[in-house]
Amino acid sequence: MATAPLDVARASYREISLYAPNRAPARIDLSDNTNLWGVPPAAARAIREAVTGTVTRYPNLYCDTLKGAMAAYLSRPVAGGAAPSIDAPQIVTGCGSDDVLDSAIRALAEPGDLVAYPDPSFAMIPIFARMNGLRATGVPLVDGTTLDPDAMLATGARIIYLCSPNNPTGNATTREAISAVVDGAPGVVIVDEAYAEFAGWSALDLIATSERVLVTRTLSKAFGLAGLRVGYAAGSPALIAEVEKSRGPYKVNAIAEAAAIAALTEDLPWVLDHVDEAKAVRARLIDALRAIGLAPLPSDANFILVPVPDAPAIATTLRSDGIALRPFTALPTIGHALRIGVGPWTQMEEAVHAIARAL
Ligand SMILES: *Cc1c(COP(=O)(O)O)cnc(C)c1O
Repeated sequence: MATAPLDVARASYREISLYAPNRAPARIDLSDNTNLWGVPPAAARAIREAVTGTVTRYPNLYCDTLKGAMAAYLSRPVAGGAAPSIDAPQIVTGCGSDDVLDSAIRALAEPGDLVAYPDPSFAMIPIFARMNGLRATGVPLVDGTTLDPDAMLATGARIIYLCSPNNPTGNATTREAISAVVDGAPGVVIVDEAYAEFAGWSALDLIATSERVLVTRTLSKAFGLAGLRVGYAAGSPALIAEVEKSRGPYKVNAIAEAAAIAALTEDLPWVLDHVDEAKAVRARLIDALRAIGLAPLPSDANFILVPVPDAPAIATTLRSDGIALRPFTALPTIGHALRIGVGPWTQMEEAVHAIARAL
């Protein structure tokens, strides 16, 4: 919907365009990296039960019970490392991690300050920066995929945003690179771990040694609850207190909170089994794409980025077959590529056959 500029609008909002990817329903939707195996069972039960006695009242102001469940989840032992010890005051929640990122950017910089982010990365970051009166600068990834800590630090940005595993490239950033940014940064470092469950390591333990690291997580991807909009972040209590002010009260609705608590406390075996399955399918999908002559990038997430000659044309052809993928056209170094969400193998097989026909 293109409309003429409104004279009463805030001038800095004129350059902001609405984030509106093609979300038309598709028979097989591999476009948004959600959990294609479905809803975790205890969360589904909690949603049905939450209606009675819940929706006529305001929800919990700042989600205290949910924060406890999130802290316990983040504190469980992880492969190849000590369990981080995280308490509820180190957690802030939000209406999706989008809301947590927006709140953090608003809380931790003054208007006019700079936000630096890797390019390519999560498309919402420059939008949130501008929405909050900040400037944003993208720092190209080396060879299209690898974070250069010195280039990131050279921006002098008040807020540095990192994403690991990175969307849309799929690769995790190394501990060395993230630590180098944290050690040299003049301000806050946000590490977006929307896909942490699918990766081999997490930056979460850095919050114990740096007061200025904020690690964001979500229930939208591995936990299969994107429609409920529950995100969160972990950091030092002082940092979290600032983000909480900017977030404001009542941001997570009562049904979402009930489902999120059930998912984190009862559904972990379901979630972790499907994470394992996603990783196995991911390896198989990479092989299948290679077999049709493509060179997919390695992935630590539940999606794969694969360079192709004409991404929009292929995506349009697949759409007419009922298959949705996310096309990219101007990725630094990489150029055109398709991002494919990992799901049940039958869906992958159909997508690969359709891509092979469309090439
Ligand atoms: C999907 C995604 C998010 C947003 O998730 P919500 O919690 O649903 O708002 C944040 N960051 C990245 C990198 C994502 O891909």
